[in-house]
Amino acid sequence: MTPSPHTTVVTGASSGIGAATAQLLAARGHRVVLIGRNHDAVTTIKDGLPDIEAGPHHALTCDVTIPTQVSTAVASIIEITGVPDGLVNAAGICSPVPLDELTPESWMATLQTNLTGTFLMSQAIATGMRRAAVSGSILNLGSEASLIGMPHYAAYCASKAGVVGLTRSMAAELAPHIRVNVLCPGPVDTPMLRAELEMTGDPAAAWEAELARVPLGKVATAHETADAAVWLLTTATNATGSVLSLDGGTTGAFYGANSR
Ligand code: NAP
Repeated sequence: MTPSPHTTVVTGASSGIGAATAQLLAARGHRVVLIGRNHDAVTTIKDGLPDIEAGPHHALTCDVTIPTQVSTAVASIIEITGVPDGLVNAAGICSPVPLDELTPESWMATLQTNLTGTFLMSQAIATGMRRAAVSGSILNLGSEASLIGMPHYAAYCASKAGVVGLTRSMAAELAPHIRVNVLCPGPVDTPMLRAELEMTGDPAAAWEAELARVPLGKVATAHETADAAVWLLTTATNATGSVLSLDGGTTGAFYGANSR
């Protein structure tokens, strides 16, 4: 385990799973650096975090798809807080669409945010950790879509499968001093999921369909997802290259038509 006090960078911290993870980390005494593109949104979450002894939390605007923004953000994080010992890559987008309507622009945006953004942040933070001989931990947000194919999710599934490959490669290369793991949730009640349900034209029916396809019969909360993310990041000291499904059984428990 890395020594306290911890400083953890969380991308996608203005909303959903990233915000819940930042809140849980702060509640456990971590100094948190919150990253998102929307200054007001990420600052609002930061202002709601409890004060901790290790120093003030910080909110930074950064588009994780843009290499120069990532390198500038990580340089200022190191200047402000010192080299962080934790990184949670929760920034992500999802725009489901039938394959024949999937534009190159949407494909590229999904890959750039979910996969390239995770790579750029991880590379910059891990390089800082290694140069400073800091033992650290990186937690990536995958998805059930990392592990299975889903109609209308070609770009998202490709990006999230890529996050698993990236995680495993980094885990092998950065051991023994930096652990890298990936959490693969099923449906989680966040603005991302709500937007996907709205796109169907009948969000109430789409919500019921989500419940019906999950063996445990529920949509997870952002808080319980953050709980697993923080466990993998901080407590699971023998885990690296691990792919943890937290999906109510959608990828691991065969769910036939007569199961319920
Ligand atoms: P969310 O509520 O939509 O939050 C996404 C976050 O990512 C926001 O804070 C957004 O902030 C940030 N973001 C998006 N593009 C960015 C960029 N280019 N640079 C920096 N920040 C960016 O989504 P969520 O449901 O919490 O999802 C969090 C992660 O979990 C994602 O990787 C998602 O794929 C994954 N996941 C979600 C579910 C689910 O059902 N909700 C299931 C499995 C996996 P700004 O817009 O302000 O930049």
